[in-house]
Order: sequence, then structure tokens, then C-alpha cells
Amino acid sequence: MPYFRSDLQDKKPSKISVPVRKRMMCLNESCLNPYQAIMQAFLAKMDKIELNRYLSSVTDELHSALTSYIGNRLNKENVLWGNGADDILYHIFLAVRETDNSYAVSLAPSYFDYQTFSAMVGLKMCVLDLNEDFSFSTEKYLELAGNPDCRLAILCNPNNPTGNLFSEAQLLQIIEALPEKLVLVDETYFEFSGKTLAGKLGQYPNLILVRSFSKAFSAAGLRFGYAISSAENIYELSKVLTTFHTSILNQVFALTILENREIFQNQVQQTIKLREELFSTLKTIENIKVYPSATNFLTFSLYERTPEFFSYLLTKDIAVRDVGSHPRLQNCLRVTVSCREDVDAFVSVLKQFLD
Ligand code: PMP
Repeated sequence: MPYFRSDLQDKKPSKISVPVRKRMMCLNESCLNPYQAIMQAFLAKMDKIELNRYLSSVTDELHSALTSYIGNRLNKENVLWGNGADDILYHIFLAVRETDNSYAVSLAPSYFDYQTFSAMVGLKMCVLDLNEDFSFSTEKYLELAGNPDCRLAILCNPNNPTGNLFSEAQLLQIIEALPEKLVLVDETYFEFSGKTLAGKLGQYPNLILVRSFSKAFSAAGLRFGYAISSAENIYELSKVLTTFHTSILNQVFALTILENREIFQNQVQQTIKLREELFSTLKTIENIKVYPSATNFLTFSLYERTPEFFSYLLTKDIAVRDVGSHPRLQNCLRVTVSCREDVDAFVSVLKQFLD
């Protein structure tokens, strides 16, 4: 194709390919449909919205609601939102890439799409494999990130798909050691861990956090995510976004979520409880290895019986995620935890399978 960038020829479009079943426990979504939960409040707000206009007062209102949710005395200059955390990641990659040799550092296994989106903008990716217990060496990470061609250091906390949380001390050590590099901490699952570096932003001008409304706010289909950083970083990043980047509809919905956030915060608390219950259940079953998680999912293995169990679940209308592509997670599956009905069905199918 002579019309497009030559490096695109070897790439494939970014598409998710998962089996669709009644119980979707494969994409870390929520069972709570936010439209049904807050429809009246959303429609009442929409009544005052003029979709024929480019500008709306909802943008300012959303900025206030979002900064008050984030806390830590941040203001609107510290926040940039977009169409999901993915969209924010893409634009960060776009904004940091300098030359053909520019690369980002990440851990592996981690969120697979760091590679996908960085490749889209010609930013290379260099990864450090996690140890068997999902820890990693700060020294080795800094070695990879120290090279002048490294333009971005990525850390996903808690990490997807391993589910574990890295210590704040280790993250801060990395951030402090790399004052000349942007350090991106992906906090997409932070509400399920309660741990955030938002309180450290004032201290570290190289720190940028990325968050999502897809998990704790049950709104994967909405497409809303945001970055938090210094005013200077957000200003630079804004330069690669188009003027009216997110729809007003999307902004109104995100604002309505924030104004009714107890509903979603209760859902998060229930999810955490359910996750711990499922963890304990899986722990007691012989021939299963389950990893502790600070997210809305659990990663586990049935060793060599894993592929058979994956297919068996599909026949019972349950889809989980095969995360075994990295050797560290060989024969591992990831199951989303959100509502009791799904979790009960999953456990009952597991017991049938093992009987
Ligand atoms: N980061 C991580 C670690 C994720 O797991 C995901 C989605 N699964 C995202 C970012 C993207 O989230 P969003 O739906 O907001 O684009």
C-alpha cells in the first residue's frame, strides 16, 4: 500500500478477540450497567445540554468533579481526559516519541496493549520480565530505562494480568532515580487496591498517573479515562490532542457517575469482598494455584488441565481470559470478579470439572 506509512504493513489492526458468552468474565468489566443505575440523573442533565454547540459548561463542571474525586489539592491544569485509559496511553506515547530509536520500558507480563499502542506511533518497547513471584529488580529496570533513547518508564500498579501490587517504596525509588524521564504509573485498577501515588505528584514532576472509568466506575463502554500530572506535563500532552477530543455526551455521563459515585464505590467494596471469598475458595482446592490480587480479577492455574478447563467453561457459557502467552503465566487463566451470580456459576462449573 503506497498511501500509508511503510511500517504499518507488518502490523494488524488493534482488535480484541475473546469468545462471547452469557457470563463475560474475561475483560475485567463490571456487572453493573451504569446507564440503568443513573439514567434519570443523566437524562435530567442532558436536558440542559446543547449538542449542536462545541462548547458546554459541563466541561468545567467535570473538571471540578474529577479534581475533587482525585483530591490532593490538584486542579484542572493537572488533569487531562480522553476516550478511555487506552486513548490517554496512545497520546502519551505519541507525545514522548522523539526518534526512530525512542523506546519505552515496561514489565512483562503486563498490560499487553502498551506494546500495541506504542507500535502504532513508532515508539519501541523494551521489557523486563517479572520474577517468578511477580516482583522485579529495580536495578535491572533502571538499567533499561537509563539509556538516553528511553523516553518513558511504564509501571502498571496493580499489574494486569498478574494482579499484584508493587510497593510504594520501589515505585518511588524508580521515579527518584529517573528525574529526566517521564514515569507513567497505570492506576487503572487502583480503586480495588486503595493505593495511589496521587499524593506524590507535587513532589515528582516526572510522574504521570493514568486512570480509567472502565473498572471501578463500571463504564467500559463509555470510554472515559484520564491522566494526572504536573500542569506543565498536562500542557505538553494537550498539544497532541484534537480540540474537541471527547464528546459532550461522554463528559455528561462521566460527571453523572462522579455525582453518584457511592453506587459505584459500593460496587467496588462488594467486588473486593467477592474477590477475597473466591480467592479463599480457590486456595482450598487441590491442584489449583491462585495468585493474590489487588484488582477486580484473579489469575489462577490448573496446570496442564488449564486448556481443557478453559474450553469446558465455554461450553457452560462462561468466558474467562487465557493469559498464558508469557512464560511466567504459562497455563494461567484470568477470571473477572464482579457479581455473586457469575462467581457462583464459575465455582460450580469448576467443581463439576474437577469431580
Ligand atoms: N490499563 C490497564 C492496565 C488495563 O487493564 C486496561 C483495560 N483492560 C486499560 C489500561 C484500558 O482501559 P480503558 O477501558 O479505560 O481504555
